[in-house]
Amino acid sequence: MAGIHAYAVQLPRLTVAAQEYATMWGRCAARIEAKRVPDHDEDAFTLALAAAREVLPKGPAPSVLLTASSQEPGFGALLADALGMGGARLGEHRGPTAALQALQEANDAVAAGHGAALVVASDAPAFAPDDEAEHGAGAGAIALLLTAKGPVQLRRAAHGAAPGLPGLDRSDAALAQAFAALTRSGLAADSIAKVAGNDLDGTLGKVAAKAFPKAKVNPALARIGDAGAASPLLALARALEEVPPGEALVLAAHGEGQAIALALEAEAAPHAATLAQALAAPTEALDYARMARLRGFLASGGSTVSQGAAVSPAQFLDQQPARLRLEAQRCAACDKVQFPPREGCLECGGITFKPQRLSGKGEVYSVSTIGRGSAPAEFAEQQRRAGAYDVALVSLEEGPRVAAQVCDAAPGHVRVGDPVRLVVRRLYVQDGAVRYGFKARPT
Ligand SMILES: [Zn+2]
Repeated sequence: MAGIHAYAVQLPRLTVAAQEYATMWGRCAARIEAKRVPDHDEDAFTLALAAAREVLPKGPAPSVLLTASSQEPGFGALLADALGMGGARLGEHRGPTAALQALQEANDAVAAGHGAALVVASDAPAFAPDDEAEHGAGAGAIALLLTAKGPVQLRRAAHGAAPGLPGLDRSDAALAQAFAALTRSGLAADSIAKVAGNDLDGTLGKVAAKAFPKAKVNPALARIGDAGAASPLLALARALEEVPPGEALVLAAHGEGQAIALALEAEAAPHAATLAQALAAPTEALDYARMARLRGFLASGGSTVSQGAAVSPAQFLDQQPARLRLEAQRCAACDKVQFPPREGCLECGGITFKPQRLSGKGEVYSVSTIGRGSAPAEFAEQQRRAGAYDVALVSLEEGPRVAAQVCDAAPGHVRVGDPVRLVVRRLYVQDGAVRYGFKARPT
C-alpha cells in the first residue's frame, strides 16, 4: 500500500518574536510565540530545494514531482530542473488546500504504479507592513517521498465546499462537511487521537472539537508562523512526531470556502529530518527594525540594471540549471573537473565533457568583506537590506575553486580553512526575474 516513506523539513534560521509586534503595533494579531522569516537571499524556492535535497537520498528516485506553493507557475519546473528530475511528471497546486491536493495526487500516482513520488510544499507569504496578516507571516518547506510501501498511509479522503459571499468566508462550514463525510465513510470519530492542520485563527480547533471529541488539535505552527501552502504538511510532521505508530490521525486544510480532510495511519515512523530537529537548530533573533529592513519595508526596491559586472541574462539562464544542480564538467581529454561550466577546458582546451555532480562540500581558500558602496550594482539592494557581506574562494572536494558569497554568517565570521557547503540562494533580481545561484554556508 502506498504511503509516506520519508520527509524532511526546512526552516529559515531567522526568527522574530511575537513580542516585537506587540511593541511596534500594540499587539500581535497572530496566535504565535514567534515566527521564522526568510533571509534576504531565501524564498519558497530555496527552502523547497533544500528540503527536497535532504529527503531524496532516503529512498528510490521519484518519477513524479508535485508542488504546493503560492509561487508563480513554473516553480515546479525550475525545482525539477535543479533536482535533476527533468523527465518527471509535474503537477503544481496553489491555494489553501494545495498541499493536501498534492499529497492525495502523489498517493494516487504511487498506488497506480508510477513509482515513487515527491511532494514539496513551500511558502514564504509576504504582506504589506500595515496588514495584520503580516504579523503571522512566516516561512517553511517540507518535502515528502511517497513509495509503494511507505509506512504512513492515507486511508480516507473527503472534501467540503461552502461558497461564501463577499466578505463572508464559509471555510468553517466546508471543514465541518469534510469531517462529516469522513465519519460517514466509516471512520470512527472516537478513534482519532489527533487532528493536524493550520490553526492560526482557531477555526480548525473549534470545528474539530465537535467532529472528533477525543482528538487533540495541534497548534503546530506557534514557533513558525503562517508558512502558507506548507503549513498543513508541517502540522502533519508535528503530528507524526507526537502520535505513536498505530494511532489514527486526521489532517485538514481549509480556506476560500474549500476544505480537505485526510485520515492517515502510521504503521511505523517514516525516515525523517524532523520538524523537531529543524526547530532545535541554531537560530538568529531579529528585532522589528532589522526584520523590516530585510523584508524591504524600508528599501526603495525595484529591479536592478546590470552595470556589466554580472553575466548577461541569456548566458545566465543558459547556465542556471547546471549551477543549481552543482553540475560540473569533467574534461574527456585530461580528466580535469571544472565548475561553473565553460565552453572549453581551462587546462587543455578540450571541448568534450562529461557531467559530474559536485557534493557542494569544500573549504575556504580566501575570503574578503565587501563593504557598502563597493558591491556590484546587482547586490546594491542586498546591501541596503542586509549590509556588508563576505565573498569567499572555495576549494571544492572534487578540485574546482569557485567564488561564492557567504550566507548565514556575519561578515568576518568565516576564516580561511573553514569547512563550507554550497547551497542555492537568491542572488538578485534582474529584468524582473529572480536569479538563483550558489552561496557558501559555514558547516
Ligand atoms: Zn582538459
